Amino acid sequence: MTAVLSKEQKLEIAENLLGSCDSLSWKGEKYGVEGDELGLVAEEYGVWRCETCGWWVEEGELAVEADGDVICQDCYDEENKWI
Ligand SMILES: [Zn+2]
Repeated sequence: MTAVLSKEQKLEIAENLLGSCDSLSWKGEKYGVEGDELGLVAEEYGVWRCETCGWWVEEGELAVEADGDVICQDCYDEENKWI
C-alpha cells in the first residue's frame, strides 16, 4: 500500500530532512512511505543530500564541483581550502 502524503506532511518531511543525515529509507519507515517517494518529496521541496557527507541541505546551499558532483558548501570549502 502506498501512503498518500498531504502537503503538510511533505513540508514536515522536507523540514525534517534538513540538518539531518538520515537515509531516505530510514526516514520513509518513520512516515510509512517508500524511500523513493521521499526522494520525490525532497526534490519537490528543493532539499538535496550531499554526496560527500550525507547531510541534507537546501538547494541554495549546494556547490557543484568541477567534475559535476553536487556537494554541500561545507564539503566544497573543505576540499578547496588548500587551493
Ligand atoms: Zn557535504
